[in-house]
Amino acid sequence: MIIMKKRIAILGSTGSIGTQSLEVISKFSDIFEVEVLTAHNNVQLLTEQAKIFRPNAVVIANKEKFGVLADALKSYPVKVYAGHEAVEQIVTMDTIDIVLAAMVGYSGLMPTISAINAGKTIALANKETLVVAGEIIARMASETNVRIIPVDSEHSAIFQCLVGEPDAVEKIYLTASGGPFRGKKRQYLEHVTKKEALRHPNWTMGAKITIDSATLMNKGLEAIEARWMFNLHPSQIEVVIHPQSIIHSLVQFTDGSVKAQMGLPDMKLPILYAFSYPERIKSDFPRFRFTDYPEFNFELPDLDSFPNLLLAYEAMKTGGTMPCIMNASNEIAVEAFLKDRIGFYDISSVIQKTMEKIRFVKSMDIFDYRDADREARAYAESLLPT
Ligand code: NDP
Ligand code: MG
Repeated sequence: MIIMKKRIAILGSTGSIGTQSLEVISKFSDIFEVEVLTAHNNVQLLTEQAKIFRPNAVVIANKEKFGVLADALKSYPVKVYAGHEAVEQIVTMDTIDIVLAAMVGYSGLMPTISAINAGKTIALANKETLVVAGEIIARMASETNVRIIPVDSEHSAIFQCLVGEPDAVEKIYLTASGGPFRGKKRQYLEHVTKKEALRHPNWTMGAKITIDSATLMNKGLEAIEARWMFNLHPSQIEVVIHPQSIIHSLVQFTDGSVKAQMGLPDMKLPILYAFSYPERIKSDFPRFRFTDYPEFNFELPDLDSFPNLLLAYEAMKTGGTMPCIMNASNEIAVEAFLKDRIGFYDISSVIQKTMEKIRFVKSMDIFDYRDADREARAYAESLLPT
């Protein structure tokens, strides 16, 4: 019997999720193969990946890097393209079964929309896509009958808890490790550096999401992501701190019963599940042992010390383009923090001021979201020290 391999396009193949998804594909190369790889700037790694995985095509989003990439791959049977439009176009290729959206930030939005319109199954890591325009994305996916399978570990957990009974949800609990600053107060946090913020206790991830985890914005983005992924009301989404990161999230059903999904903190598990769904693939990944974790702890998030979580909830409740405005200002502020231009709490104040300043609209038109993103970025940028 010939088994058709699932052909996968990895958008953001040079990142943390991208490289881990390539590990998954190598390990299960009898089931999955790489059809397309894309990156932003990292020509060297993209070239190495293309030589190993021999995709049909690669795209480098930064057009200036086209020459170097094309030259490096000239003796290989791999098509080479450049530019953001090329990323949007490549995902529509007939030979792609699954598009893994693993770019960081707003850059994931348009390619994901294009992949949905082309009817591709989406494995979604890029949570910002649902934060920015979740209402539109959810509607498009339902109209085109496209399946969006979460890669984010919390959402994968909820998705797994809902298999077989998607309709009796009372509430979900998103678990959070609490990040490197769990238990710390304002007085301490005012002085923390980028280096300290980049030291996450349980996960190794890209820089942007690591800072979002330190400010708890990541959990706010995930609440909005969950809202659209699972069609929930904001009041149905709660956050609980669970420092061991073994319970990846929980669903409470209308009869009061609670299901949790557990496992070692390793993104390769939700990546594999997103690629293999609705099947489970036998793996030799390390197994969880209860005796290694004699205690599970839970606490409520400290909203006074970590105001970003509140700001994200506010944006979610306001709706319309407000989450998009919040996301854009967060991207600008995090980048500034990573360049040592601003301090830890300046991130929150840039977001708050931008949310107060930029007018939000209730709209289902993607151009309104593009405008909101652009305006919010410009305003947030104007708040930064020169
Ligand atoms: P990284 O920063 O490690 O990687 C980002 C990837 O996106 C790189 O391949 C990068 O290319 C590419 N990229 C960056 N900017 C652009 C752009 N403007 N246009 C096109 N491509 C771009 O991020 P992560 O892998 O950590 O995260 C990716 C997404 O997954 C994020 O949305 C994050 O929130 C989400 N996620 C990540 C988790 C993790 O464990 N890392 C867990 C759950 C969700 P280049 O290398 O060339 O710059
Ligand atoms: Mg997560």
